[in-house]
Amino acid sequence: MIRTRFAPSPTGPLHLGHAYSAILAHDFAKARGGEFLVRIEDLDQSRSRSEWEMKIFDDLNWLGLTWVTPIMHQSQRASSYEIAINKLSENGLLYPCKCSRKDVRDAVTAPQTEFKIIEGPDGLIYPGTCKYQKYSNENVAENALRLDMNKASSRCITINNQNIKMNGSRENKNIIKTSQFIENIGDIVLSRKSMEVAYHLAVVVDDEAQGVSHVVRGLDLKPATNIHVLLQNLLGYSSPYYLHHKLIKDGTGKRLAKRDDAKSISKFREQGAKPADIRAMVGL
Ligand code: GLU
Repeated sequence: MIRTRFAPSPTGPLHLGHAYSAILAHDFAKARGGEFLVRIEDLDQSRSRSEWEMKIFDDLNWLGLTWVTPIMHQSQRASSYEIAINKLSENGLLYPCKCSRKDVRDAVTAPQTEFKIIEGPDGLIYPGTCKYQKYSNENVAENALRLDMNKASSRCITINNQNIKMNGSRENKNIIKTSQFIENIGDIVLSRKSMEVAYHLAVVVDDEAQGVSHVVRGLDLKPATNIHVLLQNLLGYSSPYYLHHKLIKDGTGKRLAKRDDAKSISKFREQGAKPADIRAMVGL
């Protein structure tokens, strides 16, 4: 069964870029007799709003998209994320970390440090400050948990990142050596204080739980896909196929952001646009 999903965060209006992504995922599944799902990625409760969520459904509905219900909300999935964290932890792949973002920056920029300043998909590569500390168990929930990338990449020497084209034909099956992840991605945070889970872990657990066969999303998330495929391997999940589509840009060539109100679907609707006009605007 082909199953795709659109996974917006309800933190602002849908714009042309979201519409493009949602339509591609929807049409890809429907053209193959499959299912299209919508998942609300509301992990960041401080920014997520139910008003935005209602508007997202209204816009998707207006665009003529149909999806399978019930809708999954990441805010309701803490126990599933905890199971995955525990599994990685039992396998000795996580360690607690007390460092703030500032601590990490200070450590890598300190004079005479041997660390290199490398930006990974998740910000600066962690220099490993807390890796060799022995924290007692009762402290664990008060700290972030990081993936020990040395151990993770020795468990999975290579990963297969399966990319395909929009017409469904296979583009490539990238065999990626995970040893490169130590320098280029580093020990990423998988859960923050009080078990607040990181996006990378949540998205992997949810795609597995929902049986997503094809992840259709923007090229901006391509660097994160390697992390996701690694986590799928470590958790014993099979990996979906990945289709990374072009990004919709504004007139100046910049990628559209939530604050680009002028390109929001609701603005176009107010101006009398029809769903076919939105499709035409994004080249569909
Ligand atoms: N929630 C993410 C976003 O709004 C999408 C993540 C994904 O498609 O995996 O950018």
